[in-house]
Amino acid sequence: KKFNQYQLSDELLKAIEKLNFENPTKVQEAVIPIALEKKDILCKAQTGSGKTAAFGIPICELLDWEENKPQALVLTPTRELALQVHEDIFNIGRFKRVKVSALYGKSPIRRQEKELKQKTHVVVGTPGRVMDHIERGTFITDEIRFLVVDEADEMLNMGFIDQVEEIINEMPKNRVTMLFSATLENEIKRLSKKYMNDPQIIEI
Ligand code: AMP
Repeated sequence: KKFNQYQLSDELLKAIEKLNFENPTKVQEAVIPIALEKKDILCKAQTGSGKTAAFGIPICELLDWEENKPQALVLTPTRELALQVHEDIFNIGRFKRVKVSALYGKSPIRRQEKELKQKTHVVVGTPGRVMDHIERGTFITDEIRFLVVDEADEMLNMGFIDQVEEIINEMPKNRVTMLFSATLENEIKRLSKKYMNDPQIIEI
């Protein structure tokens, strides 16, 4: 099955072609149609499974280019993953001219503030720095419609979970939430029960 089986705009299909993605991966086949219907998803997926495009493609498809405030937030446990996700979403959204900002620690906050003052559709970041920008009022969250917690098990291992919960509590209630994790341990299930709306559970 090919990517043109989904309701995707020409801009997205062109970007997917340029990335040389011929067929959706298993995770993408499971996630993309459900995410395009704006349903919450709890997905057990490893790195390398194509999970970034699984959430990146529907988010880029569904976001409104005209809206000036950020519409999607992707939380990652590390700066490296934030940069990778930033690049992947930039590539997926390039022909729709999707604007992506990365927020992570140990990097000048002023530059990130400047970037946030300009139009941005998707924010990708690590919990500490994302919370910092929310508290400073530089990251406006009232138009967020998509929230992704990537590598949620790593968020737990690294002790970020309280911060992640604090951030989730700042998000509008009317949103789509997608949680990706290599394991579906009890703590992950607790999070999904607390913050997600009848999630579809996908285990590849
Ligand atoms: P991820 O699991 O998101 O880190 O993706 C792992 C790698 O697979 C990345 O280098 C992606 O560019 C690549 N990839 C993602 N989806 C596809 C696809 N449908 N076909 C080929 N490669 C892909």
